[in-house]
Amino acid sequence: NPVPVSVIGLGAMGSVLATALIENGHPTTVWNRSPEKADPLVEQGAARATTVTEAVQASPLVIVCVLDYKAMYELLDPLCDALAGRVLVNLTTGTPEQAREAAAWATHRTIDYLDGAIMATPPAIGRPDAFLLYSGSQSAFERHEATLKLFGDASTYFGADPGLAALYDIGLLTSMYMSFTGFLYGAALVGTADVKATAFAPYVESFLDGVVRGGMGQLAQQIDEGHYPDDASPLAMQAAGMTTFIKAFQDEGIDVEILQHIKGLTDRTVADGHTKAGLASLIEQIRTRRLVP
Ligand code: NDP
Repeated sequence: NPVPVSVIGLGAMGSVLATALIENGHPTTVWNRSPEKADPLVEQGAARATTVTEAVQASPLVIVCVLDYKAMYELLDPLCDALAGRVLVNLTTGTPEQAREAAAWATHRTIDYLDGAIMATPPAIGRPDAFLLYSGSQSAFERHEATLKLFGDASTYFGADPGLAALYDIGLLTSMYMSFTGFLYGAALVGTADVKATAFAPYVESFLDGVVRGGMGQLAQQIDEGHYPDDASPLAMQAAGMTTFIKAFQDEGIDVEILQHIKGLTDRTVADGHTKAGLASLIEQIRTRRLVP
């Protein structure tokens, strides 16, 4: 029998999560600060809770998906014991530290806490390739795995450290933003000769597919081993190349700060004696820069 689930927060994301539950036969109770957002879900078969307490008390599994952690605490902190003994799955985006604090907050109230990060847009929820990342209570994940996989079949549980889902989330999104931004810079550069972005994109796609995708595994292995053999492209040579790239951007009068930053990481790595190392050695500068305020 599908477990009853309560969904708190019916924004773009929470509404779609609730719909997936309703469509799969879960008795679903919904609550939102602006109550009208519950209307379409009630029409689909959800029960409307008039207070957060009522929503929480309706189900052993409570999902919260609101704007940020501040909103989450505003809603859940005043509840006294209503959440005790229940599973709370927090799909609100936050930092690893916020997730760990929330887990401690929950443990103090005997709430079984699972933190989640949604690696999908609302329309993708429920599609087989959609995935969410989970960490925190293993028993909560295992008990509700089938229900949680309704949102994305490719979802993964990373371990008991509640911060892991948020760490992966931000790590993945950082990789995404930097990849897309890299393309924007390339498009701006070729655009100075009236090359259309749509004409440039296929080259970037195949280049990323080959060189970047193909090189990722090797980079990862080198990072893990702390050993960065040069692989025929020693860093000192790459640093010289970067000077050329920066000049090309400057010649066209377009923004060059990101490239200068990468060149800075490279120069400092070379100055540390890694002249013959490969690109993976930049990780040491990236890591130690966290010590600089
Ligand atoms: P929306 O802006 O559509 O909805 C925000 C929700 O938070 C609404 O239900 C809103 O209530 C509620 N809320 C905000 N502040 C408060 C408050 N102080 N008290 C009570 N409720 C509050 O955002 P989404 O639904 O898109 O996002 C929700 C979470 O999901 C976010 O953490 C987001 O990062 C994450 N997420 C979203 C993705 C997306 O593509 N949309 C993708 C991955 C993660 P009200 O309706 O009353 O304003």
